[in-house]
Amino acid sequence: MATVKNSVEEAGQKRFGPAWLRSLVGATFYTPCPTHLGVPKNECNHYCVDCIDEEGTTTIFCSICFSGHTDHHHVLQIRRSSYHEVVRVVELETVVDISLVQTYVINGDKVVFLNARPMALGHGTKCVGPAGTCLECGRALIDATFQFCSLGCKINCVARVLYAYVCVRSTPGRELVF
Ligand SMILES: [Zn+2]
Ligand SMILES: [Zn+2]
Ligand SMILES: [Zn+2]
Repeated sequence: MATVKNSVEEAGQKRFGPAWLRSLVGATFYTPCPTHLGVPKNECNHYCVDCIDEEGTTTIFCSICFSGHTDHHHVLQIRRSSYHEVVRVVELETVVDISLVQTYVINGDKVVFLNARPMALGHGTKCVGPAGTCLECGRALIDATFQFCSLGCKINCVARVLYAYVCVRSTPGRELVF
């Protein structure tokens, strides 16, 4: 059964990105950089795709630390829109498949949200248009070509589907639970 699990994980990683991606969507940004305390522009709003160690510890750093990663690494700049983290599509699309994730134009840049945003009570169901809702969190989408409101929702959904697939394959006769 390990082979099935491994091959599914491999397939999942190939298609939806490695450990740095799963860390990216759960990470906390905009905290002061420990190396540059008290220095202006020391918010940790950069994320290095290549600097991740074997334990999955990722590298989040400020704009002053940035120079140490420019020559050999792919660095994402995390921006904020109404206190929610967004990343420009041009920075992300070369390192991860962001198809089906709703894009927004904010300050002239096409961006995606990293994570689901909390919804006001009842808002999600009241404001659902023809575009439908996010498959993962239920937020209303603005364009029918998308299925997820954020990169995090896509990754979480894919992870559950892959996990369910592994469970079904390893215990024949059990129902597929999503
Ligand atoms: Zn780096
Ligand atoms: Zn720093
Ligand atoms: Zn969502």
